[in-house]
Amino acid sequence: MAYQPNNIFARILEGEIPCEKVYEDDYALAFRDINPKAPVHVLVIPKGEYTTLDEFAGAAPAELMAGFFRAFAEVVALLGIAESGYRTIVNTGRDGGQEVAHLHFHVLAGRPIGRMVGRE
Ligand code: 5GP
Repeated sequence: MAYQPNNIFARILEGEIPCEKVYEDDYALAFRDINPKAPVHVLVIPKGEYTTLDEFAGAAPAELMAGFFRAFAEVVALLGIAESGYRTIVNTGRDGGQEVAHLHFHVLAGRPIGRMVGRE
């Protein structure tokens, strides 16, 4: 999927749109979802122009990939959810229900999140 540079998360990365920041470093930004689906609902996004996880995994420089996943670990530690657990969701494309065309990892926690996926 071609990256759309004007997507809302790109604008958050540029500082054009505010966010409730949880963590930031050279590789990633984490912020609270504007429409939380659980007591903890954070989005972790890489600092790179990738729309999907397969594009990121297939093409991102190793330093960015490692940095992103290290940042993910920092976010989980900061949120204090490693012990209680959490759900990670990466929606991709049409059938995956992706609304924002910049790769993002949802981190949901703070209550039992339920079993796997629903059908709407
Ligand atoms: P997707 O369906 O693409 O996986 O999820 C997009 C997520 O981004 C949704 O959970 C939605 O609530 C969140 N979102 C959309 N616009 C904004 C925004 O401007 N700020 C924040 N913090 N979250 C947003």
